[in-house]
Amino acid sequence: MPAPKVDVVADLQELGRAAARQLARFLLKKPNAVMALPTGRTPEPLYAELVHLYRAGLLDFSQVHILQLDEVHGLPPGHPRSFQAHLTQHLIAHVNVSPERFYTLPSQLDDPNEACAAYERQIEALGGLDLVVLGIGTNGHLAFNEPGTPFHRDTHLTELTPETREALRETFGIEPPPDQALTMGLRTIMRARCVLLLAAGKKKAPAVANALQGSITPEVPASVLQLHPSLHVILDASAATQLVDTATSLQQTGPAVRPH
Ligand code: PGA
Repeated sequence: MPAPKVDVVADLQELGRAAARQLARFLLKKPNAVMALPTGRTPEPLYAELVHLYRAGLLDFSQVHILQLDEVHGLPPGHPRSFQAHLTQHLIAHVNVSPERFYTLPSQLDDPNEACAAYERQIEALGGLDLVVLGIGTNGHLAFNEPGTPFHRDTHLTELTPETREALRETFGIEPPPDQALTMGLRTIMRARCVLLLAAGKKKAPAVANALQGSITPEVPASVLQLHPSLHVILDASAATQLVDTATSLQQTGPAVRPH
């Protein structure tokens, strides 16, 4: 398995710029890339930088397909605190993504299982995901794949842990925070051709170390990424503090994020 490429940058702002450069490189090579994008505090500077690059005429999103990585469940459609609203507010509304190329997970569903199966069929119809951009939870979750989620799950409805619900309350001000969410599964993520993992802040340091250097176990969902053949990790200095011997065990020579 090739070593992941790991970049450590100074802070969250720098992380946003570094991640935006990766996405820009990716989109210049493959303008019609199929990308899954996360919601949260970590990617906000990335989205700001992408908007900046777009306004400067350096990026074109007209051919890109963007899929939501996950969505809280139980909010009325169009709710301002939904992940769809958040992604729209930070990126979609400011760049030239065609509305029919922005694929969303509904926040309220009569038949969640059918909606999840339809989402997988949509990904398949698009030819699979070229790139998934991910944050990581303090408990090691990826998207809303909480500890204990089997690695072979596809997109599914899931129960949220108290820790994740608290993070939702803090980050999104959703009161009360939802106890369920829809999420791409770990298999959906692992089938993507390239993965870009972003983490910032010292609260994330233990999860980052467990994910990249601990045992590969469903108890740390992000540890499955050790098995991904094209993983690029960008960390700020605080999130990297618990990595052991990064110079040798996490070589900086692995594959960069790139379209196949
Ligand atoms: P955050 O969320 O970017 O708001 O820290 C990441 C996550 O929980 O996956």
